[in-house]
Amino acid sequence: MRIVVLTGAGVSAESGVPTFRDADGLWEGHRVEDVATPEGYDADPGLVHAFYDARRAALADVAPNPAHLALGRLEAVLGHDLTIVTQNVDDLHERGGAHHVLHMHGELLSAWCRACGHRFRWEGTLADRPACPGCGVSELRPDIVWFGEMPYEMDRISAAIAEADLFVSIGTSGAVYPAAGFVIEARARGIRSLEINLEPSEGTHWFDEARHGKAGDLVPRWVDEVLGRL
Ligand SMILES: [Zn+2]
Repeated sequence: MRIVVLTGAGVSAESGVPTFRDADGLWEGHRVEDVATPEGYDADPGLVHAFYDARRAALADVAPNPAHLALGRLEAVLGHDLTIVTQNVDDLHERGGAHHVLHMHGELLSAWCRACGHRFRWEGTLADRPACPGCGVSELRPDIVWFGEMPYEMDRISAAIAEADLFVSIGTSGAVYPAAGFVIEARARGIRSLEINLEPSEGTHWFDEARHGKAGDLVPRWVDEVLGRL
């Protein structure tokens, strides 16, 4: 049984992580244009660094919820037959016991050097412009995929979907491409699909089955069903 799970903001939101898809269109009081685009970074790198430094520090205040923990349990049994793809930039899947997570929108705990191109695990701050551990130049930026940039791991994600028996989307609005297109890709290949979301997503009609409610309730139940069938 090969499964691809896509997770989105809804899963992190249940752990109390603020997201930028909230009703006012702001992310912790900032316009996404200012803090989540390359243009915003070029215009005011200090503001952008301070913003992500705060988000990185705030990871200490949140914990994985039952949905993260259930996916960790599933990975422990399925191993590489489970591919977790996330749009989230926090580390809650990893702290929930999953070790092979494709972060298509980057990670708060990673820094990317604009001088040498290398990426480094990063737990500290960037606003103080630290030197790159690789090349020594002070050009580290948050390793976050901003609007207008290409998501990571698209080839691996497509390959995993092509080999999957089931595609499951959890806590995503179904509004942000390319992730919103994964279910269409699965459908075109005849792969079964399941949506788990607080409410019907914009793409809910593409799924073979949809379950609506809290991920923290529904994901552990679904994982138990899968494990019970093995
Ligand atoms: Zn460097």
